[in-house]
Amino acid sequence: MDSDFEINEHCYQIDTKQWTLPKVGVVYAVKSEKTFLIDTGTSQTNEKILSTLEEFKITPESINTIIVTHEHYDHGAGAIGLLKKMPNAFVSASEKTAEILRNPTEFFETTKRHYGDAAVLVSDYPPVRDVQVVEEGNRFDLGSGVSLEVVALPGHTPGSIGLFEPKTKTFFAGDAVCNYNEEFEFYMPPSFPELFDYENYLKSLDKMQGIDFEYLCMGHFGTQKQPKAKQIIKKAAEVAKEWKDIIVDIYGKTKSEARVYNALLERAGDNEYIKSFPDFIRRSILGQLIRGYVLSLKL
Ligand SMILES: [Zn+2]
Repeated sequence: MDSDFEINEHCYQIDTKQWTLPKVGVVYAVKSEKTFLIDTGTSQTNEKILSTLEEFKITPESINTIIVTHEHYDHGAGAIGLLKKMPNAFVSASEKTAEILRNPTEFFETTKRHYGDAAVLVSDYPPVRDVQVVEEGNRFDLGSGVSLEVVALPGHTPGSIGLFEPKTKTFFAGDAVCNYNEEFEFYMPPSFPELFDYENYLKSLDKMQGIDFEYLCMGHFGTQKQPKAKQIIKKAAEVAKEWKDIIVDIYGKTKSEARVYNALLERAGDNEYIKSFPDFIRRSILGQLIRGYVLSLKL
């Protein structure tokens, strides 16, 4: 299936082609009397998002609100470029995410440091001055029975939120679930360092299991339907716990990120997905995910 598609009568999936790869970055549009965009991609993906919106007959002028699901650059750094083309839109995010959007510099420098050799992949993160703050329970009315309800999902980052659209039973989860690659049936916890909180992440996965959605729209690799969607959330929690056991055991004993890295590669066994990455990217991403655990668990 095309990675840009109409999910249901009001919701659209847009592949940002982050790093020019399919489905690595995904944003969403929800269209009724008002039209909302959920997430912004990076500062390099504006044009792809705008051209796909046009294919869906969504004009930039019709976008009322851009909701940023969390602090990371691949969700918020595209905001300013999109705002320039979307004169009627303003940006909404949680309090914690708004703080980073308004002043991303320090956080972004830390992000690039963690990418190490792969920092060349990371484009810039310009600030957004005006951000409307939303919190758990807030509800946006898009008209004709379509709405978006804010669900706090701390863990991946403290500012992470999800958005539930009850008419179409669509849930936009940002990165609160995991990095799940369907083609290879491969799961990685979204444990990027500095902001990841392991215990809260598991609680948010539990919270999502209680939401009555039919479509699960994730910030990477796109949309899944029930019953598979809830199985993915369940499996994400299992994988997160398995990683925790490995990291606590090996890092606890050796304080060596390299040994944990080798153990996780071994665990991945014959899965071609992780092997398909260029070596420097694999080391960067896995290294970061390990460091997120180490910091969160204070190992
Ligand atoms: Zn993220």
